Amino acid sequence: MQITIIEHILSVRERIAVAAGRAGRSPEEITLVGVSKRHPAEAVRAAWEAGVREFGENYVQEAREKRAALEDLVGLRWHLIGGLQSNKARLAVSLFDTVQTVDRLSLAQALSLEAERNQKELSVLVEVNLTGSAIRAGVAESETQALCEQVAALPCLRLKGLMGMAPLCENAEGARPHFSRLRDLFEALPGENRQVLSMGMSGDFEAAIAEGATLVRIGTALFGERPPRN
Ligand SMILES: *Cc1c(COP(=O)(O)O)cnc(C)c1O
Repeated sequence: MQITIIEHILSVRERIAVAAGRAGRSPEEITLVGVSKRHPAEAVRAAWEAGVREFGENYVQEAREKRAALEDLVGLRWHLIGGLQSNKARLAVSLFDTVQTVDRLSLAQALSLEAERNQKELSVLVEVNLTGSAIRAGVAESETQALCEQVAALPCLRLKGLMGMAPLCENAEGARPHFSRLRDLFEALPGENRQVLSMGMSGDFEAAIAEGATLVRIGTALFGERPPRN
């Protein structure tokens, strides 16, 4: 497993560099987040040994177990990339460095309160719904700016930018217009809130980099197919 993960990391980093070069950007501008959901802690360990430091998890409970198994690793940073219920805000604040899925004020307020209790500042991204479908996560594009202003005003949150997922497209090029709209929303933010543009997954990260992503969230292309949920 370890050898395969190292090879995958090299190949993904190469693809990031090529995509960045094509867009006239430096690969150093782009953070690779390894999405380890439903993969074992040992997969994270292998990626860490190959130099990956940022990891994304979708479920608070799963992240808690994995973190406990990886306490000896130095410099790990954890991103919550799955939806969060406000009643899990306390646990989320204790486990994650960045919550990428803030999509409503009530959740932001709960996170800020817990961060204050923990005497820490939590980095957050506002998740934008690029699908136009009300059943999907994320704030509507038209409400993004207002939510960002409210989140940025909370005492213990540091709003770093935006996160989004393109709707399932037939090919990665189809995702580009969605990423492009997210970049437009991002560019309208004040400088201190315009540091991280999280978009692009295994199937579409090159298109996302072409549209300005500064952080890509990659699971399958690093760790292989996810085992089914049990
Ligand atoms: C699972 C997931 C990813 C990674 O998806 P892959 O296609 O396996 O790279 C990225 N972002 C979010 C929000 C996810 O839930």
